[in-house]
Amino acid sequence: MQRLATLWIPAVALLAAWLLSLTPATARFELWLNDVIQHQVAREVRFNDAVVIDIDDASIETLRPHFGSWPYNRDAHALVLDWLTEQGATSVVFDLLFADPRQGDDTLASSLRRHGNVTLIASAQSQERSNGNNRRTNQLAPFAWPVPAELPVRTWSTAIFPTQSLTGELSRELSRDTTARTHLAVAAASEDIDGVLRRLPLIHRIAGIALPSPALAALLKPGQVPGLTIDANTHHVSFARHQWPIDAQGTVQLAFPRNRDAVLTVPFRQVAEAALGVVRLDDAAAFFKGKTVFIGSTAQLSDRVNTPLGTLTGTTVLALAYQSLLHDRLMMHAPPWMNAFLALLAAVAVGAMATTNMMSRIGRIALLLGCALLGLVIAHIVLTDAGYVVHSGCALGTLLIGGLMVGIRNVQSLRQSHDQLERIANIDALTGLLLRRAFLERFQAEIGRAQRGNSSLSIAILDLDHFKRVNDTYGHPVGDQVLRVFAQTLREQLRGTDVAGRWGGEEFVVLLPDTPVDLAVSVLDRVRLAIAEKRFPAPADNLRVTMSAGVVLFDGIVTDETVTDPEALVGMADTALYTAKESGRNQICVKSPSRGSAW
Ligand code: GH3
Ligand code: MG
Ligand code: MG
Repeated sequence: MQRLATLWIPAVALLAAWLLSLTPATARFELWLNDVIQHQVAREVRFNDAVVIDIDDASIETLRPHFGSWPYNRDAHALVLDWLTEQGATSVVFDLLFADPRQGDDTLASSLRRHGNVTLIASAQSQERSNGNNRRTNQLAPFAWPVPAELPVRTWSTAIFPTQSLTGELSRELSRDTTARTHLAVAAASEDIDGVLRRLPLIHRIAGIALPSPALAALLKPGQVPGLTIDANTHHVSFARHQWPIDAQGTVQLAFPRNRDAVLTVPFRQVAEAALGVVRLDDAAAFFKGKTVFIGSTAQLSDRVNTPLGTLTGTTVLALAYQSLLHDRLMMHAPPWMNAFLALLAAVAVGAMATTNMMSRIGRIALLLGCALLGLVIAHIVLTDAGYVVHSGCALGTLLIGGLMVGIRNVQSLRQSHDQLERIANIDALTGLLLRRAFLERFQAEIGRAQRGNSSLSIAILDLDHFKRVNDTYGHPVGDQVLRVFAQTLREQLRGTDVAGRWGGEEFVVLLPDTPVDLAVSVLDRVRLAIAEKRFPAPADNLRVTMSAGVVLFDGIVTDETVTDPEALVGMADTALYTAKESGRNQICVKSPSRGSAW
């Protein structure tokens, strides 16, 4: 029953851990822990379906004679797009914002039409800006994807769209034939609270029109009609042959590979020079054929995204996301019951720790805690490997808080046991007075004090008269009661600074610091009278108790002859006690001084 009462510990630990798990700090910790575990279970991957063409600083420098300075006129992009089309690239994503009209737009627009499977980017904005873009959403409606109402989407107030000189004619074409595609996609990071990108919204909604994420748009095969369906029960989105688990926000959770270089990357310079005919790229067709190409810029250190793999370029992340969707490499959010089950198991482990009886079992409790932690980490690893994003913060918190509580409780009860042992060793159970050993320790200290202060210390030994008769007449229990009453009388009559102890049997010792011997005698006489007046309940109502005492003085002055040993001083008092007994009992006798000389 007492053990069951300790079950409040796991309950409180679970509640505290659950409350803690609602805080952003725990959320961050969980994200970090999941990253660490996912990284450990992840495998190295080298994707072959996508290529990132990186417009880096070196490329811009090299291509200056051909294309001028950045940003380029759009015929430069048309040239590259035409070349990629020739090499057989299936799909091209321009991760570049073609927001303002520029020279060469018409050339690029006709290149776009020739390729027919290109994605342009709109940049979503959460704040309303008065750039008049929303007025254009009507014209952009043909780019919208049909989306089931049950699919949660990321909603934005506005976006920066590609210039109308690129989208205008395409939009008109689209409204005639929905399979002729240049796609419009929305680039917007969906970071977790620690600023790290792990999730990808499939669909964004801007001013009423639903647009896909670039990774999703790039998956469309030429001629394929865009569209998603959702299974409301399983929370899976279907697209062509794919089935992707989504969370409540409609985002998919990417399973990052172990290595940073999972996506092929080629500098823009190489591709542009090949397109210009400046250099020949051997096997270019074999390399680009059937691939999805992401063209993006990292020049001037722009376009960086924090990911569990560290900082990557935004275009690389897009390509990674595309590859993840293509190969269904996604994580599922563990259902709430799974996280709750882990927390409950942790509470059971804490319960086992709390009900294990402490003291010598502290090692066992530490072992239990260690095993439970290990078990939790293994469960987390297994679930992560099975593709679940687990929230084990509550379980972990329960174990740590519970372990701490059990630890504190055990230290407390250890301290209590220690105090209890000390009491048993020093205090007489019957009378509550100091036992001989503890008394002698105090005595030694008082001798030192008297010596330093040159002050008088009186020592007395007290013995109940004819105590054997009390036992013999009334029995041992009454004898015990008399001893208790006598100890109580001593406590009442002595000062706070005096020390009383039980020397043994019915003999007691008293130290009276700063007390000359005549004063000590009068104090002890008070005790003598007080105990003589005590009355006891029937059948001992006729009992009268008297005491005799012997006193010796230690006057603090130490010469060669001075006795400073506590036991010897008690022995000297005992000789005075003997005299008192000899002289008829019920009296106080003095032996003085403490120099071993005569009376
Ligand atoms: P005197 O006046 O000479 O001191 O006679 P006395 O009977 O008091 O002396 P004695 O030493 O012969 O007897 C002491 C008795 O105290 C003997 C013992 O049974 C009793 N006694 C010692 N310790 C205890 C105790 O804890 N409880 C009880 N009830 N009796 C005790
Ligand atoms: Mg006695
Ligand atoms: Mg005695």
